[in-house]
Amino acid sequence: MQVFTSVIVLAIFIVAYIYTDIRDYKERKVKSISSLAHVIGTNSASSILFHDDESGREILAELKDVAPEIVRADILDKDNAFFATYLRDSTGKRDSPFIKTQKNAFFSDTSLFVADDIINNGELIGRVSLVVELSELKAIKKAKFEMAAILLLAALCISFLIALAVQPYISKRLLNLVNAIKRVGKTGNYTTPVTDDGKDEISILVKTFNNLMKAVNESQQRKDEFIGIASHELKTPLTSIKGYLDLLNVMEDREPNRQCVHKALESTHKLEKLIRDLLDVSKIQSGQLQLNVTGFNMDELLDESIESIRMIAPTHTIKRENRNSGQMIYADREKIEQVLVNLLSNAVKYSATDNKVAVSSANSGHELIIKVRDHGIGIPEDELTDIFGRFYRTKNSSVHISGLGLGLYICRDIILRHHGRIWAEREEKGSSFYFSLPLETHTEDTKTIDIENKEPAF
Ligand code: ADP
Repeated sequence: MQVFTSVIVLAIFIVAYIYTDIRDYKERKVKSISSLAHVIGTNSASSILFHDDESGREILAELKDVAPEIVRADILDKDNAFFATYLRDSTGKRDSPFIKTQKNAFFSDTSLFVADDIINNGELIGRVSLVVELSELKAIKKAKFEMAAILLLAALCISFLIALAVQPYISKRLLNLVNAIKRVGKTGNYTTPVTDDGKDEISILVKTFNNLMKAVNESQQRKDEFIGIASHELKTPLTSIKGYLDLLNVMEDREPNRQCVHKALESTHKLEKLIRDLLDVSKIQSGQLQLNVTGFNMDELLDESIESIRMIAPTHTIKRENRNSGQMIYADREKIEQVLVNLLSNAVKYSATDNKVAVSSANSGHELIIKVRDHGIGIPEDELTDIFGRFYRTKNSSVHISGLGLGLYICRDIILRHHGRIWAEREEKGSSFYFSLPLETHTEDTKTIDIENKEPAF
């Protein structure tokens, strides 16, 4: 395709060049023959004045040597009557152009016609007419078009040969890429990039394919990592449940031991939470997480959530800093409780050395803001928004504190579905988590919202 396009472009340029060259040649010719006509007119003025047609013919006869391409020349008097005529040979026997036109120069297919007025003392006394044979122009045209044809043919052949030589190089690189795609499809190995040292479109294609492989590889690695963590997180409580149940089984008095039952129950709760988180994530991903909105008292919900955390984390002091005199909220009570419990259990989990956790609420007029403050390990500034991402765990916590990095992702989705906001802030020691819920009056007590699943921009 490229070869043919180049040849067509070359042909257009050559034709344009020939056209301008011929036009210049014609202009030059008109100019030189017009000057000749003027000289003849000046020389023959006295012949006309003295009616000396013999000397007029002599002047014209000189044209045979001076301009052999002139086939006919005429001198006419002021009434357009022929005064003297010159014919180079029999081909010059044709009508004088003045009978047909008053133009000073024009071209026919084979000839150039040029005329000039003969003026004496400002008075028109006659006219000179010359007919020039254009066989030279014809020859020039023929030669130029032949040369153009040869050049184009040569260009076509050379381009074709170059294309033929380059083709295997291009095909080889494309085949290399195709084989790599087939290999990846078969083996599922996305780690070996395709090499290509070119700088053209094929190398861009190769680079794009390598980037795609890299992205797939990274996502696979994240998935593998998650499966590893999830299996570990599921296995640990299951092993401990099994251990306590085995212990109960071999106890001599066959009476359930309270502490063993308590420990087994604790592990069962952990397992239940993990499985619920995984289910919630898959519901969020498929857009099936639904809200069951009712009106409820936020103060009561805060008390209940704090109480349930106090039971499982007796080591920590969870303090309610203020109350909002029974502020009514319209939201999914169970889901908001899930958010609160998640924030509180994180506050406990990530503050092993300092056991103070504080919960407060504030009414801004159009929304209710809840704050959970801890004095734990804190969150690096540049990770404050990332922690709400799926599977995200901060670098300082992921090594020694267990977790899947799903809780905050679920909290964010729940709050955004309620048209609220959720964010974290760094404190001098520890961190504060905030979420807000819009304050609006509802006439219905209960309604179900099914919001489209969209990734919010944090
Ligand atoms: P998980 O706790 O199971 O890892 P989350 O989604 O609840 O998952 O939290 C995501 C990450 O955010 C945690 O791994 C931790 O690094 C960080 N994080 C959450 N809450 C706190 C907190 N109160 N203090 C310090 N880091 C926290």
